[in-house]
Amino acid sequence: MAAVSKGALSLLQEYDGDSSEDEVPGPRVSTKRELKNDHDDGTQKSLKKDERNGRLPLPSDISSLFSSTSPAHVDEPKLHGGRIRSFPHERGNWSTYVFVPYVPSLVVNSLADVLVALMESDIQLEKTDDLHVSVTRTVVLRHHWIDSFIESVQKSFNGFPSFSIGFGALKVFTNEEKTRTFIGFSIDIGCDKLSKITQEMDKCLADFKLPPFYSNPSFHMSIVWCIGDKSKEILRKMSSVELVHQQFVKAHPSEWHAEINQVQCKCGNKLFSFPLVQDV
Ligand code: AMP
Repeated sequence: MAAVSKGALSLLQEYDGDSSEDEVPGPRVSTKRELKNDHDDGTQKSLKKDERNGRLPLPSDISSLFSSTSPAHVDEPKLHGGRIRSFPHERGNWSTYVFVPYVPSLVVNSLADVLVALMESDIQLEKTDDLHVSVTRTVVLRHHWIDSFIESVQKSFNGFPSFSIGFGALKVFTNEEKTRTFIGFSIDIGCDKLSKITQEMDKCLADFKLPPFYSNPSFHMSIVWCIGDKSKEILRKMSSVELVHQQFVKAHPSEWHAEINQVQCKCGNKLFSFPLVQDV
């Protein structure tokens, strides 16, 4: 069997196994790596170690998706550093986006592991290490605008109530430059609140002549991604992806929603949090 297939199968066996001390592959790189690499101060959101080490019973039928005849994986180290900036890095320019953060449950984390393993003979997927639902595009803010932009965002969230989001089907997204492809949950509960937030954020951005969110927003939470436009390849395997997802949903029916108590803005290496009003 090819080396990488063995990797995928052993990953799956770890979920079924009971005593292995091997670590489940953890987050390696970020979906928003331009941001981190521009100004990273090392304050990445990361999973608790014991969450990463946790084992879940593998939903039935998933192992059968893995063929022992998978072609050999050719490792291309250049891909690890092969990320492409969305815009050139210039002194004084701060990559900025506003998002709803989500700390992944063990189940969502495990689903991402299985998707990486499912695709690994064809596509080198990475797990998203800072799960979130974007409510703005990634924009470039001049350094001297940061304070007033954040003040304006803060005002928008005064009195904004906390809300729930629900995770629906898995969908494929590419960034505008087609330099990265993502698989993520489409958000099927809470879109009205997310739309309200994007409208407010669009007003803040307009004051700085920055572009609004998509005219046809598709709120989602990416859980894995890869370099390049691999949407066609991934779409060809989407029935397997959906099957895996459905097995997880069947095995863990109550895991697919989150309570949203804050919105955050990442601006270079700075992270700003805006708490929402919780029910009294
Ligand atoms: P995110 O995980 O929020 O960074 O989103 C991944 C990518 O989805 C972004 O690079 C967006 O450009 C892209 N995307 C494509 N179409 C849409 C859409 N209709 N709504 C939101 N994001 C989209």
